[in-house]
Amino acid sequence: MPTPSLILHGGAGNIPDDTLQEHADGCRQAAQIAWDLLSRGGPALDAVEAAVRVLEDDPTFNAGHGACLTRDGDIEMDAILMDGATLNAGAVGAIQRVKNPVAVARLVMERTQHCLLVGAGAEAFARSQGIPVWPTQNLITERRLARWREAQPGGGQRSETSVRETAGHDTVGAVALDVNGHVAVATSTGGIDNKLPGRVGDSPLIGCGAYADDALGAASATGWGESLMKTVISKSACELIAGGATAQQAAEAVIRHLDERVNGRGGIIVVDRQGRVGYAFNTPRMACAWVTPEGSIRAEC
Ligand code: ASP
Repeated sequence: MPTPSLILHGGAGNIPDDTLQEHADGCRQAAQIAWDLLSRGGPALDAVEAAVRVLEDDPTFNAGHGACLTRDGDIEMDAILMDGATLNAGAVGAIQRVKNPVAVARLVMERTQHCLLVGAGAEAFARSQGIPVWPTQNLITERRLARWREAQPGGGQRSETSVRETAGHDTVGAVALDVNGHVAVATSTGGIDNKLPGRVGDSPLIGCGAYADDALGAASATGWGESLMKTVISKSACELIAGGATAQQAAEAVIRHLDERVNGRGGIIVVDRQGRVGYAFNTPRMACAWVTPEGSIRAEC
Protein backbone atom coordinates (compact mmCIF):
# COMPACT_ATOMS: atom_id res chain seq x y z
CA MET A 1 0.00 0.00 0.00
CA PRO A 2 1.61 3.33 -1.00
CA THR A 3 2.22 5.92 1.69
CA PRO A 4 0.18 9.03 0.90
CA SER A 5 1.98 12.20 0.05
CA LEU A 6 1.16 15.88 -0.44
CA ILE A 7 2.70 19.16 -1.52
CA LEU A 8 0.93 22.44 -2.23
CA HIS A 9 1.86 25.98 -3.21
CA GLY A 10 0.62 29.50 -2.71
CA GLY A 11 2.38 31.02 -5.71
CA ALA A 12 5.83 32.05 -6.86
CA GLY A 13 6.88 35.67 -7.28
CA ASN A 14 8.03 38.68 -5.40
CA ILE A 15 6.06 37.88 -2.24
CA PRO A 16 6.35 40.97 0.00
CA ASP A 17 8.18 40.62 3.35
CA ASP A 18 5.13 41.70 5.33
CA THR A 19 2.99 38.87 3.94
CA LEU A 20 5.48 36.00 4.33
CA GLN A 21 3.91 34.77 7.54
CA GLU A 22 0.40 34.90 6.08
CA HIS A 23 1.54 32.89 3.10
CA ALA A 24 3.25 30.24 5.21
CA ASP A 25 0.31 30.02 7.65
CA GLY A 26 -2.24 29.77 4.83
CA CYS A 27 -0.27 27.01 3.12
CA ARG A 28 0.17 25.12 6.39
CA GLN A 29 -3.53 25.30 7.21
CA ALA A 30 -4.55 24.03 3.74
CA ALA A 31 -1.97 21.22 3.96
CA GLN A 32 -3.33 20.17 7.35
CA ILE A 33 -6.88 19.89 6.01
CA ALA A 34 -5.80 17.92 2.94
CA TRP A 35 -3.51 15.71 5.03
CA ASP A 36 -6.31 14.87 7.50
CA LEU A 37 -8.21 13.49 4.52
CA LEU A 38 -5.32 11.69 2.83
CA SER A 39 -3.86 10.12 5.94
CA ARG A 40 -7.25 8.58 6.75
CA GLY A 41 -7.24 6.87 3.35
CA GLY A 42 -9.17 9.55 1.41
CA PRO A 43 -8.77 9.99 -2.36
CA ALA A 44 -6.06 12.27 -3.76
CA LEU A 45 -8.72 14.07 -5.81
CA ASP A 46 -10.69 15.06 -2.69
CA ALA A 47 -7.50 16.11 -0.89
CA VAL A 48 -6.29 18.47 -3.63
CA GLU A 49 -9.75 19.97 -4.05
CA ALA A 50 -10.06 20.51 -0.29
CA ALA A 51 -6.63 22.17 -0.12
CA VAL A 52 -7.38 24.50 -3.01
CA ARG A 53 -10.79 25.47 -1.63
CA VAL A 54 -9.12 26.56 1.61
CA LEU A 55 -6.56 28.59 -0.32
CA GLU A 56 -9.28 30.13 -2.52
CA ASP A 57 -11.14 31.26 0.62
CA ASP A 58 -7.98 32.79 2.10
CA PRO A 59 -7.66 36.43 0.92
CA THR A 60 -3.87 36.18 1.05
CA PHE A 61 -3.81 34.25 -2.21
CA ASN A 62 -4.58 35.14 -5.81
CA ALA A 63 -7.47 32.70 -6.22
CA GLY A 64 -11.14 33.00 -5.27
CA HIS A 65 -11.33 35.65 -2.52
CA GLY A 66 -8.24 37.80 -3.19
CA ALA A 67 -8.02 37.15 -6.93
CA CYS A 68 -6.26 39.89 -8.87
CA LEU A 69 -8.14 42.31 -11.09
CA THR A 70 -8.37 42.64 -14.86
CA ARG A 71 -7.51 45.87 -16.66
CA ASP A 72 -11.18 46.85 -16.25
CA GLY A 73 -11.22 46.20 -12.50
CA ASP A 74 -13.17 42.96 -12.79
CA ILE A 75 -12.39 39.44 -11.58
CA GLU A 76 -11.98 36.50 -13.97
CA MET A 77 -10.70 33.25 -12.50
CA ASP A 78 -9.16 30.06 -13.93
CA ALA A 79 -9.04 26.64 -12.26
CA ILE A 80 -8.44 22.98 -13.05
CA LEU A 81 -8.66 19.59 -11.38
CA MET A 82 -7.14 16.43 -12.92
CA ASP A 83 -7.43 12.80 -11.91
CA GLY A 84 -4.28 10.74 -12.52
CA ALA A 85 -6.21 7.45 -12.46
CA THR A 86 -8.29 8.22 -15.55
CA LEU A 87 -6.68 11.38 -17.00
CA ASN A 88 -10.10 12.98 -16.64
CA ALA A 89 -9.91 16.71 -16.13
CA GLY A 90 -12.31 19.58 -15.58
CA ALA A 91 -11.44 23.24 -15.87
CA VAL A 92 -12.92 26.73 -16.01
CA GLY A 93 -11.45 29.83 -17.62
CA ALA A 94 -12.30 33.48 -16.98
CA ILE A 95 -15.19 32.49 -14.73
CA GLN A 96 -16.89 35.21 -12.67
CA ARG A 97 -19.09 35.43 -9.58
CA VAL A 98 -18.34 32.04 -8.02
CA LYS A 99 -16.72 31.52 -4.62
CA ASN A 100 -14.72 28.39 -5.42
CA PRO A 101 -13.72 27.99 -9.07
CA VAL A 102 -12.08 24.62 -8.30
CA ALA A 103 -15.46 23.22 -7.24
CA VAL A 104 -16.93 24.24 -10.61
CA ALA A 105 -13.94 22.61 -12.35
CA ARG A 106 -14.78 19.37 -10.54
CA LEU A 107 -18.38 19.56 -11.74
CA VAL A 108 -17.16 20.13 -15.32
CA MET A 109 -15.12 16.94 -14.97
CA GLU A 110 -17.85 14.87 -13.39
CA ARG A 111 -21.02 16.14 -15.04
CA THR A 112 -20.13 17.16 -18.60
CA GLN A 113 -18.51 15.62 -21.66
CA HIS A 114 -16.04 18.52 -21.71
CA CYS A 115 -12.72 19.42 -20.15
CA LEU A 116 -12.89 23.23 -20.17
CA LEU A 117 -15.70 25.77 -19.99
CA VAL A 118 -15.03 29.51 -20.16
CA GLY A 119 -16.61 32.88 -19.41
CA ALA A 120 -20.39 33.26 -19.42
CA GLY A 121 -20.85 29.60 -20.38
CA ALA A 122 -18.85 28.45 -17.37
CA GLU A 123 -20.84 30.71 -15.06
CA ALA A 124 -24.15 29.52 -16.53
CA PHE A 125 -23.04 25.92 -16.03
CA ALA A 126 -22.18 26.65 -12.39
CA ARG A 127 -25.67 28.09 -11.81
CA SER A 128 -27.27 25.09 -13.51
CA GLN A 129 -25.48 22.91 -10.94
CA GLY A 130 -26.78 24.92 -7.99
CA ILE A 131 -23.64 27.00 -7.36
CA PRO A 132 -24.90 30.35 -5.99
CA VAL A 133 -23.96 33.77 -7.33
CA TRP A 134 -21.02 35.14 -5.35
CA PRO A 135 -20.83 38.89 -6.00
CA THR A 136 -17.53 40.22 -7.34
CA GLN A 137 -17.38 42.60 -4.36
CA ASN A 138 -17.01 39.54 -2.10
CA LEU A 139 -13.95 38.42 -4.07
CA ILE A 140 -12.09 41.76 -4.20
CA THR A 141 -9.65 42.67 -1.42
CA GLU A 142 -8.20 46.09 -0.54
CA ARG A 143 -4.69 44.86 -1.36
CA ARG A 144 -5.64 43.79 -4.91
CA LEU A 145 -7.56 47.01 -5.44
CA ALA A 146 -4.49 49.02 -4.44
CA ARG A 147 -2.33 47.10 -6.93
CA TRP A 148 -4.92 47.66 -9.63
CA ARG A 149 -5.02 51.41 -8.93
CA GLU A 150 -1.24 51.50 -9.11
CA ALA A 151 -1.36 49.92 -12.56
CA GLN A 152 -3.81 52.47 -13.99
CA PRO A 153 -2.53 55.30 -16.19
CA GLY A 154 -1.09 57.92 -13.85
CA GLY A 155 -1.13 55.41 -11.00
CA GLY A 156 2.59 54.61 -11.19
CA GLN A 157 2.37 51.85 -13.82
CA ARG A 158 5.04 49.20 -13.40
CA SER A 159 7.50 48.36 -16.17
CA GLU A 160 7.10 45.26 -18.33
CA THR A 161 10.01 43.62 -16.51
CA SER A 162 8.42 44.28 -13.17
CA VAL A 163 5.12 42.80 -14.39
CA ARG A 164 7.01 39.70 -15.54
CA GLU A 165 8.82 39.35 -12.22
CA THR A 166 5.78 39.82 -10.02
CA ALA A 167 2.86 38.94 -12.32
CA GLY A 168 -0.07 37.61 -10.36
CA HIS A 169 1.97 35.71 -7.80
CA ASP A 170 -0.02 33.87 -5.09
CA THR A 171 -1.79 31.45 -7.44
CA VAL A 172 -2.50 28.20 -5.60
CA GLY A 173 -2.14 24.52 -6.37
CA ALA A 174 -1.84 21.09 -4.79
CA VAL A 175 -0.68 17.62 -5.82
CA ALA A 176 -1.18 14.40 -3.89
CA LEU A 177 -0.68 10.64 -3.93
CA ASP A 178 -3.23 8.52 -2.05
CA VAL A 179 -3.08 5.09 -0.41
CA ASN A 180 -4.45 3.50 -3.57
CA GLY A 181 -1.56 4.83 -5.64
CA HIS A 182 -3.63 7.49 -7.41
CA VAL A 183 -2.30 10.98 -8.00
CA ALA A 184 -4.31 14.17 -8.54
CA VAL A 185 -3.74 17.88 -9.02
CA ALA A 186 -5.71 21.09 -8.62
CA THR A 187 -4.66 24.63 -9.54
CA SER A 188 -6.61 27.89 -9.15
CA THR A 189 -5.83 31.52 -9.93
CA GLY A 190 -7.09 35.02 -10.55
CA GLY A 191 -4.46 35.23 -13.31
CA ILE A 192 -2.14 38.21 -13.55
CA ASP A 193 -2.64 41.79 -12.47
CA ASN A 194 -4.20 44.12 -15.01
CA LYS A 195 -4.69 41.35 -17.57
CA LEU A 196 -6.83 42.01 -20.63
CA PRO A 197 -10.44 40.94 -20.14
CA GLY A 198 -10.79 37.44 -21.60
CA ARG A 199 -7.16 36.50 -21.02
CA VAL A 200 -6.80 32.89 -19.87
CA GLY A 201 -3.46 31.80 -18.47
CA ASP A 202 -1.71 28.45 -18.08
CA SER A 203 -3.55 27.41 -14.92
CA PRO A 204 -6.67 25.74 -16.42
CA LEU A 205 -4.81 24.17 -19.35
CA ILE A 206 -4.00 20.45 -19.15
CA GLY A 207 -0.23 19.97 -19.13
CA CYS A 208 0.49 23.66 -18.47
CA GLY A 209 -0.89 24.73 -15.08
CA ALA A 210 -1.46 21.12 -14.04
CA TYR A 211 -0.95 17.50 -14.98
CA ALA A 212 -1.57 14.18 -13.27
CA ASP A 213 -1.05 10.63 -14.47
CA ASP A 214 -0.78 7.64 -12.12
CA ALA A 215 1.92 6.19 -14.37
CA LEU A 216 4.10 9.29 -13.91
CA GLY A 217 3.18 11.66 -11.09
CA ALA A 218 1.54 15.06 -10.81
CA ALA A 219 2.59 18.71 -11.07
CA SER A 220 1.08 22.16 -10.51
CA ALA A 221 2.72 25.31 -11.87
CA THR A 222 2.59 29.00 -11.02
CA GLY A 223 4.14 32.16 -12.40
CA TRP A 224 4.10 34.06 -15.66
CA GLY A 225 1.43 32.02 -17.46
CA GLU A 226 2.39 32.84 -21.01
CA SER A 227 5.86 31.37 -20.46
CA LEU A 228 4.54 28.33 -18.56
CA MET A 229 2.19 27.54 -21.46
CA LYS A 230 4.93 27.73 -24.05
CA THR A 231 6.94 25.06 -22.25
CA VAL A 232 3.91 22.90 -21.30
CA ILE A 233 5.66 22.81 -17.99
CA SER A 234 3.55 20.43 -15.87
CA LYS A 235 3.42 17.66 -18.47
CA SER A 236 7.13 18.15 -19.14
CA ALA A 237 7.88 17.60 -15.44
CA CYS A 238 5.84 14.38 -15.42
CA GLU A 239 7.63 13.11 -18.53
CA LEU A 240 10.99 13.63 -16.86
CA ILE A 241 9.78 11.37 -14.06
CA ALA A 242 8.98 8.72 -16.68
CA GLY A 243 12.60 9.10 -17.82
CA GLY A 244 13.89 8.31 -14.30
CA ALA A 245 14.04 11.74 -12.62
CA THR A 246 12.89 12.18 -9.02
CA ALA A 247 10.21 14.78 -8.32
CA GLN A 248 12.86 17.25 -7.20
CA GLN A 249 15.07 16.68 -10.24
CA ALA A 250 12.06 17.06 -12.56
CA ALA A 251 11.03 20.32 -10.86
CA GLU A 252 14.51 21.79 -11.16
CA ALA A 253 14.93 20.73 -14.79
CA VAL A 254 11.69 22.27 -16.03
CA ILE A 255 12.35 25.56 -14.22
CA ARG A 256 15.84 25.68 -15.78
CA HIS A 257 14.29 25.07 -19.19
CA LEU A 258 11.64 27.76 -18.55
CA ASP A 259 14.40 30.22 -17.79
CA GLU A 260 16.74 29.31 -20.62
CA ARG A 261 14.24 28.68 -23.41
CA VAL A 262 11.67 31.47 -23.00
CA ASN A 263 13.12 33.67 -20.25
CA GLY A 264 10.13 32.64 -18.17
CA ARG A 265 9.51 33.05 -14.46
CA GLY A 266 7.68 30.72 -12.15
CA GLY A 267 7.62 27.78 -9.83
CA ILE A 268 6.37 24.21 -9.80
CA ILE A 269 5.49 21.49 -7.28
CA VAL A 270 5.79 17.83 -8.21
CA VAL A 271 4.94 14.47 -6.66
CA ASP A 272 6.24 11.30 -8.27
CA ARG A 273 4.50 7.95 -8.12
CA GLN A 274 6.71 6.83 -5.24
CA GLY A 275 5.32 9.78 -3.27
CA ARG A 276 8.51 11.81 -3.26
CA VAL A 277 7.80 15.54 -3.48
CA GLY A 278 9.83 18.35 -4.99
CA TYR A 279 9.58 22.01 -5.84
CA ALA A 280 11.65 24.61 -7.67
CA PHE A 281 11.28 28.26 -8.70
CA ASN A 282 13.27 31.05 -10.32
CA THR A 283 11.30 33.92 -8.80
CA PRO A 284 12.44 35.69 -5.64
CA ARG A 285 10.14 33.52 -3.51
CA MET A 286 7.68 30.66 -3.53
CA ALA A 287 5.16 29.70 -0.86
CA CYS A 288 4.89 25.94 -0.26
CA ALA A 289 3.81 23.37 2.30
CA TRP A 290 4.35 19.63 2.24
CA VAL A 291 4.21 16.57 4.42
CA THR A 292 7.56 15.08 5.39
CA PRO A 293 8.11 11.30 5.23
CA GLU A 294 7.67 11.35 9.04
CA GLY A 295 4.18 12.80 8.60
CA SER A 296 4.74 16.36 9.82
CA ILE A 297 3.78 19.47 7.87
CA ARG A 298 6.45 21.94 6.80
CA ALA A 299 5.70 25.33 5.28
CA GLU A 300 8.20 27.64 3.61
CA CYS A 301 8.05 31.00 1.95
N1 ASP B 1 0.12 31.33 -13.77
C1 ASP B 1 -0.90 32.28 -13.44
C2 ASP B 1 -1.35 32.96 -14.70
O1 ASP B 1 -0.52 33.35 -15.48
C3 ASP B 1 -0.45 33.31 -12.47
C4 ASP B 1 0.32 32.77 -11.29
O2 ASP B 1 0.66 31.61 -11.25
O3 ASP B 1 0.58 33.51 -10.36
O4 ASP B 1 -2.51 33.12 -14.88
